[in-house]
Amino acid sequence: MSSLIKILPDHVINKIAAGEVVERPASVVKELIENSIDAGATEIFIDIEEAGKRLIRISDNGSGMSNEDARTAFQRHATSKITDDSDLESIRTMGFRGEALSSIASVSRVRLQSAMKGATSGVLIEIEGGIVKTISEAAAPQGTSLEISHLFFNTPARRKFLKSPATEFSHILTAVSRQAMAYPSIRFRLTHNKKTVLELSPSMSIRERGFQLYGEEIAQNLIEFTGGLDSVHVHGLIGRPGTSRADKTYQDFFVNRRAVKNPSLTHALYSACGDILMRDRHPVAFIFIEIDPMLVDVNVHPAKAEVRFRNQSQLHDLVRDVIREALRGTNVPSAATRNDGVREAVSDYLSRRDGSESDVRSSEYWNKISNSHLRVQNREMEFYTAPVSIPPNSERDAPNDSHLFPIAQIHDSFIIAQSREGMAVVDQHAAHERVLFERLQDQFGAGQVSIQDLLVPGQVELGPAQSTVLAEYLPELSKLGFMVEDFGNGAFVIKAVPALLVGTDYRQLLLDILDEVNVHGKSTRIDEVRDEMLSVMACHPAIKVHRHLERQEMEQLLADLFKCRMPHTCPHGRPTIVRFSLVEIMKMFKRM
Ligand code: ADP
Ligand code: MG
Repeated sequence: MSSLIKILPDHVINKIAAGEVVERPASVVKELIENSIDAGATEIFIDIEEAGKRLIRISDNGSGMSNEDARTAFQRHATSKITDDSDLESIRTMGFRGEALSSIASVSRVRLQSAMKGATSGVLIEIEGGIVKTISEAAAPQGTSLEISHLFFNTPARRKFLKSPATEFSHILTAVSRQAMAYPSIRFRLTHNKKTVLELSPSMSIRERGFQLYGEEIAQNLIEFTGGLDSVHVHGLIGRPGTSRADKTYQDFFVNRRAVKNPSLTHALYSACGDILMRDRHPVAFIFIEIDPMLVDVNVHPAKAEVRFRNQSQLHDLVRDVIREALRGTNVPSAATRNDGVREAVSDYLSRRDGSESDVRSSEYWNKISNSHLRVQNREMEFYTAPVSIPPNSERDAPNDSHLFPIAQIHDSFIIAQSREGMAVVDQHAAHERVLFERLQDQFGAGQVSIQDLLVPGQVELGPAQSTVLAEYLPELSKLGFMVEDFGNGAFVIKAVPALLVGTDYRQLLLDILDEVNVHGKSTRIDEVRDEMLSVMACHPAIKVHRHLERQEMEQLLADLFKCRMPHTCPHGRPTIVRFSLVEIMKMFKRM
């Protein structure tokens, strides 16, 4: 019988590898920049045409390649970075799989020019679909330049899957930005269709690079942090509380300067942010982990985009604690630098008021509001902040909270207060939520939750999915003072509640807690779910908007608020206070 199984020819194997390594033009850009970094380049120029479909050119001033190495480099598993399997245990370079050049060359046309330092001539190689067309000597400056054109010309399916030029280019921009962030000392230039998109001069720090890449709006609200142990060092930049984003665009993790995705690290970041982050919002964070290469496995993903750690849970806790510390030591930014937070508060307020969140949150609505000007008008309220740029760390950013006293309440919803350096607007609901949240936390922490038995127990009937979740969390709820008994078949009875919650709709409260746990409860870590539960509990009895407050009540609320550990945000991460300094006010009236 003839055999059915055959070893595939090299060009097919390369194409298969390309399927994993070269997903889109941005993957080529990433791999080639990595090669330039490994070659010790201090300058990397990236020229793109038609979002990489027409041309990707990466030129560097790195070590260059000899004529012989340049030929070998395009062969499968050709690498100068490791020699045997023990090297896999301690990878210190970006590349090591020896797959990028062979994969890229198998699905495109490649033109390579390279010259080593001091060499009298360089080398020129042209390859099409993996087949070498030309090899010759050619004069070239020191370094390497690779031109990739007609990407995916022989893999039409892959070509068809490419998204619009704008999307593909945005992937390229992200790839370049990540590498540039990891290597601030390297000069980068990125052009698209001959227009310069990024021009990054070598800089001394990631903070400065962050500024070059993401601009003042983001950079000025970043806190630099550092910490760690002997074998692991964690450092980076994290957004101040109140400066969250709607997506994760400005969030990267680097392990030994390699940009990676790792669920445990992401989890550590979000737990560090805890209750200062509003639901569905994301922190700005660039987190660098420098770790002994023996303690991390980088060989777990074809595009090297994932890693595995030996001591995953210790690292998780370390990263969480270092970031948490960094966030604790900060003040929220002033009104002028926190439009994000103001937007959230107004949007939330308005949506609660007319019940239609969609038109308030529509991007068109917000697009009308420029980043530095915030002006929102509504029949019932007006809200203005003026564009004033104030250094983020200046003295005036650390207001003396104890000197905040109420002048008036507006629209039965916000307290206007005078502070020593100007005025403040306090969201009465958010503020009271914070106060109750910390009281609940304190009672729980001290093991003294005061409980109120219900004379008439509340009954709840739940569906199978919710019953399962509730049954699972009953012990935790009872520790928090919420005594619920499971009668089977989805029937539950509420027997007692924390005294602070007396008078609220317990049934609704229980349902809300379930929702919250469902959304955030992917974590099985009870200490995290607990804060989610407490934040829902704090929301229910808190003073609502549209409730008139007497002066004495306002005074009490402000006094209670400033006894809190984190007075500036509600437990869901929304701001409680927006401040306007006299300087800002005078600037608004053009007195300065
Ligand atoms: P890897 O980076 O995993 O080693 P690649 O296929 O990306 O595999 O590259 C193969 C080899 O080609 C590298 O190991 C390196 O020796 C050489 N090389 C690639 N790009 C460059 C460059 N820009 N400068 C110098 N040498 C390079
Ligand atoms: Mg490589």
